[in-house]
Amino acid sequence: MDFTWSREDTEFRSRVRGVLSRELPTNWPTLARHGPGSRQQTEFCLEFCPKLAEAGLLVPHWPREWGGAERPVWEHFILGEEMWAAGEPRGAQYMNVNWIGPVLMQFGSDAQKQRYIPQMAAGKAIWCQGFSEPNAGSDLASLKTRADREGDEYVINGQKIWTSYAGMADQCFLLARVSGAGEGKSAIAIFIVPMTTPGIEVRSIPSLIGHGDIHEVFFTDVHIPVSARLGEVGQGWKIISAALANERVGIPRYQLATIILDEMVGLLKTRGQFGDPVIRLRAAQAAASCEAARILVYHVVDAKSRGQILGADANVARLAVIGADHAVSDFGMDFLADCYSGAGHVSFMSHHERAIVTGIAAGAAEIQLNIVAQRYLNLPREA
Ligand SMILES: Cc1cc2nc3c(=O)[nH]c(=O)nc-3n(C[C@H](O)[C@H](O)[C@H](O)COP(=O)(O)OP(=O)(O)OC[C@H]3O[C@@H](n4cnc5c(N)ncnc54)[C@H](O)[C@@H]3O)c2cc1C
Repeated sequence: MDFTWSREDTEFRSRVRGVLSRELPTNWPTLARHGPGSRQQTEFCLEFCPKLAEAGLLVPHWPREWGGAERPVWEHFILGEEMWAAGEPRGAQYMNVNWIGPVLMQFGSDAQKQRYIPQMAAGKAIWCQGFSEPNAGSDLASLKTRADREGDEYVINGQKIWTSYAGMADQCFLLARVSGAGEGKSAIAIFIVPMTTPGIEVRSIPSLIGHGDIHEVFFTDVHIPVSARLGEVGQGWKIISAALANERVGIPRYQLATIILDEMVGLLKTRGQFGDPVIRLRAAQAAASCEAARILVYHVVDAKSRGQILGADANVARLAVIGADHAVSDFGMDFLADCYSGAGHVSFMSHHERAIVTGIAAGAAEIQLNIVAQRYLNLPREA
């Protein structure tokens, strides 16, 4: 088995790094301090993504019809690794590229495709994902936001929470329960809702990661045309399940964790502390966690590149990514504690804050463990 990258892959990675080193400003670490959802980074992505698009590096894996070049799955993945290693300068637009655009291509009406996909391919569209509700996070199927059909319209009422990017989004990819369509998952449908529609109120939630990242979104008698529904009423759950499987490996945070760990080790060497066997052991364990995450994610990407169906391997890989983030963050907190107070070390603090939420956003780690236990290890549901 050959584990090395092909010449084309290596050249592609260098090309992406070249664009990043040319286009990221010298104050990028400070600008990216608060993560992809911050106002600064969102504003930056609206300048940066059109340049990526022009260089053919925003949606290279998309079909030509929609502005792509039908490049291999691995190129898209290398692009993701390099972007996340740099703190994700695509901001919210990584979601468009990874899953919202492809979902629209597969399930959207012609009018929806024409209206939304070209803007995404040009790097000019910010979307948010309106799934979680105050009593429907891990148990998403119990969501209560309602869509009542009135003639040619739906009227939306309800509340979403923890919605990233909502403060600057153009559209919301919204999950709601269609009245009269039953109780369970089959009543859930997807709606594309422009965030400027009357009746939508966005409130920022102050948090540890702060700075406008997460929001509550209230929908009060929001009227949208029936044509804003994506797919059929009974299809909503199936569509998002497929989309979320992609999201699980679409955030290769081990790449950034590896860079942060290298910086930490460099600093400990400068301080003359890296001779300590305990520190060396913990650094090796953190490095092994990052490598394990990388290999498990590659396993999933490889399956995808061969057109194989993804099973619980994607959940195993996501757990490993969370573990790697935590191992590096814990290492820094234990041996470089002074870097996390006052002005501190910008990159370490930024990584640490994101590592705290990495096992919650995009699905809690404990839920991933349940899925792995049942579908991967075939353990029984009840003890
Ligand atoms: C930074 C951030 C960004 C986010 N962005 C978005 C977004 O853009 N759009 C969106 O829709 N949502 C978003 N979320 C919400 C995220 O998807 C939810 O927080 C997540 O699904 C968990 O749901 P919850 O918060 O309701 O927690 P709960 O589901 O209430 O869980 C609370 C705790 O109980 C545990 N738990 C719950 N059920 C079980 C079970 N069956 N077995 C074992 N343990 C269990 C969980 O692991 C968790 O630790 C974001 C969250 C964060 C932190």
